[in-house]
Amino acid sequence: MKIAVAKEIEVGERRVALIPDTVSRLVKQGLEVWVEAGAGLGSFFSDAAYEAAGAKIISDTATLWGEADILLKVGIPQEREDGRSEVDLLREGAVLIGFLNPLGNPAVVQRLAEHKITAFSIEMIPRSTRAQSMDALSSQASVAGYKAVLIAAAALPKYFPMLTTAAGTIPPAKVFVMGAGVAGLQAIATARRLGAVVEAFDIRPAVKDEVQSLGAKFVEVQLNEDTVAAGGYAKEISEVSKQRTQEVVAEHVKQADIVITTAQVPGRKAPVLVTEEMVAQMKPGSVIVDLAAEQGGNCACTEPGKDVLWNGVTIIGPINLPSSMPVHASQMYAKNLSTLVQYLVKDSAIQLNFEDDIINSACVTHAGEIRNQRVKDALVNTQQSAVK
Ligand code: NAD
Repeated sequence: MKIAVAKEIEVGERRVALIPDTVSRLVKQGLEVWVEAGAGLGSFFSDAAYEAAGAKIISDTATLWGEADILLKVGIPQEREDGRSEVDLLREGAVLIGFLNPLGNPAVVQRLAEHKITAFSIEMIPRSTRAQSMDALSSQASVAGYKAVLIAAAALPKYFPMLTTAAGTIPPAKVFVMGAGVAGLQAIATARRLGAVVEAFDIRPAVKDEVQSLGAKFVEVQLNEDTVAAGGYAKEISEVSKQRTQEVVAEHVKQADIVITTAQVPGRKAPVLVTEEMVAQMKPGSVIVDLAAEQGGNCACTEPGKDVLWNGVTIIGPINLPSSMPVHASQMYAKNLSTLVQYLVKDSAIQLNFEDDIINSACVTHAGEIRNQRVKDALVNTQQSAVK
């Protein structure tokens, strides 16, 4: 059983799928681990460290991909410089595990199916207690929430904590976090540790207690509809509810020095929570960090990957924040992936029990088929838009 770790070729991706520590654990369990030369360098893990952990370093990319039984990576397979897709390097029947973005990029999933790859999309792991240690969406979102606050603090022309000094008293910064999922809760905790006064809002009322337990105030909005979908995710809300939400949050945005937005609805464009009118009401020098920038943005003024100065307000739309903290992001991701590998491999063979909800949810292609109905629907929608 060969477990292979690919070097990420996507521009800006510094994470790696396994770190030396997890390699040594897999090797002790009798698995053979191959690591592509230089795969860990972006995360400061040398080839020598992987070798010392028991991995074999492979310089030839085609050999690594072509002979892997299970290929582990971080991001979606890429087109290579030689014009071939990474998918085409895998042998038929091999297992691929990574963030495959199957709802956002169903074409890659189709290619994996055509190539008869058994692909596991780590973002489709159920958000259940049983699967917690494989939940890479959570581990990486937590990094993003933490880093968002540090970026905001660095961009803010003010202190975060309250200070009483001989040169006068400095009031604490006011932080407003919109969307209190994993990233939002980590942002709240980080902003509190830096000494800010924090408010938070989410359309899922269940998060109120978590927000309050972190020392933040929960901003309540009464909506006359169910806001929670299967799996505990938020639903897309009606236009009436969006308007109601915007009316309530506008005052909190206006008062804030920093707004961190993290609101997402899986498979949909991110909801716009901060309008141009709200930005216009903010104090000059205020900062918005929009963690939904890649999904269309929670702020109407966000430009993905850019810092925009709008009426004196800085709007930051970071892309792939977990990659900017690659040591711990990779460490946690490696733990998530190695747990899934251990779950799949029994007695040196891959056991695909589709009765198991973790395997059934995360396995998006097998034996030439796309297995997930939501991915099939996303593919039909993409094809229909291309025809129009
Ligand atoms: P996410 O990234 O999909 O969304 C972030 C947050 O945005 C969510 O809290 C969501 O409610 C909120 N949101 C969506 N639309 C909004 C709007 N219009 N206005 C304001 N907020 C809006 O969420 P996530 O962090 O991935 O968490 C998703 C769910 O999974 C949550 O219920 C979370 O508690 C659950 N979860 C469970 C486990 C576990 O049990 N092991 C682990 C992690 C997450």
